[in-house]
Amino acid sequence: MSLTEIKARVDAAAQKAGRDPDEIALIAVSKVQPNDRVQKVLESGHRSFGENKVQEAAGKWPDFRSRFEGIALHLIGPLQSNKTRQAMQLADAIHTVDRPKLAKAIARIAQEEGKCPDLFIQVNTGEEPQKAGVLPADVDTFVADCRALDLPILGLMCIPPVEEEPALHFALLAKMAARNGLTGLSMGMSADFESAIALGATHIRVGSAIFGDRVPG
Ligand SMILES: *Cc1c(COP(=O)(O)O)cnc(C)c1O
Repeated sequence: MSLTEIKARVDAAAQKAGRDPDEIALIAVSKVQPNDRVQKVLESGHRSFGENKVQEAAGKWPDFRSRFEGIALHLIGPLQSNKTRQAMQLADAIHTVDRPKLAKAIARIAQEEGKCPDLFIQVNTGEEPQKAGVLPADVDTFVADCRALDLPILGLMCIPPVEEEPALHFALLAKMAARNGLTGLSMGMSADFESAIALGATHIRVGSAIFGDRVPG
């Protein structure tokens, strides 16, 4: 697959759902990809990218930013508290706000730095013990707590369990966002972004379908 093909599929899925494709941000997830592949996608004009790890993002994006205008970098991986400041300096959006301690650290650093990336709250819709994210039962309270801290919460994010029908999780996430007055929905990856678009995704995170398989190591 290429970026052009993925964009065509995004447009088709949006059209089928009666949605404007311009309201769906395609985040090209470049984690663990060789720089030459990322550079090709930048050269084709794409500007929205996603990384999982602060350290990896710090290693490649300052250089790309110095060479390409208008990059939007999304952090989509679990965030350790001690990397919060660096994450906020690097990223335009953080999709993985998942605990009160992190929310408080972001609020404090936003005060100090005078700016804050767009934020999404990660929800563990499948209630998987090994997965990050607030539990569905705690979402409303956590959204309210983040708002009390003046955090710019754009919406909710989820990664459905591998063995389950993702549409059920996308629908649940959309319902939780709507009842909290949130319009952003970060959901959908290479295997299921069309279903996510049908259920209201505003940010889809697509890696291997754009770049090819991740090179291990
Ligand atoms: C790696 C990753 C993606 C992209 O996965 P693909 O299946 O390669 O599209 C999306 N979201 C998160 C949180 C990821 O870690």
